[in-house]
Amino acid sequence: MAKYKLEYIWLDGYKPVPNLRGKTQIKEFDSFPKLEQLPLWGFDGSSTQQAEGRSSDCVLKPVAVFPDGARKNGVLVMCEVMMPDGVTPHVSNARATILDDPGAWFGFEQEYFFYKDGRPLGFPDKGYPAPQGPYYTGVGYSNVGDVARQIVEEHLDLCLEAGINHEGINAEVAKGQWEFQIFGKGSRKAADEMWMARYLLQRLTEKYGIDVEYHCKPLGATDWNGSGMHANFSTEYMRTVGGKEYFEALMKAFDLAKDDHIAVYGPDNHMRLTGHHETQSIHMFSYGVADRGASIRVPHSFVNNGYKGYLEDRRPNSQGDPYQIASQILKTIATVPTSEKASVAA
Ligand code: ADP
Ligand code: MN
Ligand code: MN
Ligand code: MN
Repeated sequence: MAKYKLEYIWLDGYKPVPNLRGKTQIKEFDSFPKLEQLPLWGFDGSSTQQAEGRSSDCVLKPVAVFPDGARKNGVLVMCEVMMPDGVTPHVSNARATILDDPGAWFGFEQEYFFYKDGRPLGFPDKGYPAPQGPYYTGVGYSNVGDVARQIVEEHLDLCLEAGINHEGINAEVAKGQWEFQIFGKGSRKAADEMWMARYLLQRLTEKYGIDVEYHCKPLGATDWNGSGMHANFSTEYMRTVGGKEYFEALMKAFDLAKDDHIAVYGPDNHMRLTGHHETQSIHMFSYGVADRGASIRVPHSFVNNGYKGYLEDRRPNSQGDPYQIASQILKTIATVPTSEKASVAA
């Protein structure tokens, strides 16, 4: 038997974006615990905008487990928030109600800024550093400073130790801005891993006295890029059958559902989707091969493979909830009929 430190992690009731919360309990197990072994737990919902003070108990239901590389015998437990009966999802629990399709693959590209003293890491206390240009995928102290790379490397290792399917890192266009990518099969799995990767990054940066700024346009209407969370997606049908006709029908459906998508693609997105800085305007829908100014970018490989593969929705922003983003993408895809030939083949 060993004593394990279980960090129960959940999303609170704040709007428009929930915050991550976590608390620890110690339990004994013979070996690293499986999901089924983890008990329900409770918390004070009146402190997280999830309950009134008079009846404040909410229930935490474990839904995914990850090893915690930063703690001896550490366990990261992703939870859904439930009502006191333990079975009814709380209204703030988006995960419980989203569409899931284990055959749908999602690759999220999380962009963010490191912030220190109220400004992006590496910005002088007054004015701006040299304009954008050398920072994207840059190397060297004057481009990335002396600590950011250490943090992103530590974060990468924590994600890999947790079994999160972290796929890569790059320094981004603005100074102090970075990106990591998470890929998962199934919308819930990909989104759980993204939330856990966000948690690990926020916890890690505490000791550096640095915050993670997820707002999509922290520097406002300046010549500094905003942050997105591009959602790359493919269903089994898109990967194995696809075709130009289906693709065009899909894009028509995305155009029709434009407002539903924007509604869950993160707050303040009008500040970021301006038609500048590699974005399409929030009021337009467009797609294009290798077009980084389109709402949806079609990779060259997609066309070369007979309109099969994945597409990149560039509109979701860095503060968006990956559960809701993935769910809306699946909802729109579900409105498009697949060919009879394909349903026979499937
Ligand atoms: P870029 O910065 O050029 O837009 P990235 O390399 O940062 O591209 O991100 C591409 C993302 O696409 C990765 O997260 C990757 O996992 C994801 N991806 C690759 N193939 C698929 C697929 N078949 N379905 C869904 N996502 C995919
Ligand atoms: Mn990228
Ligand atoms: Mn990027
Ligand atoms: Mn991208």
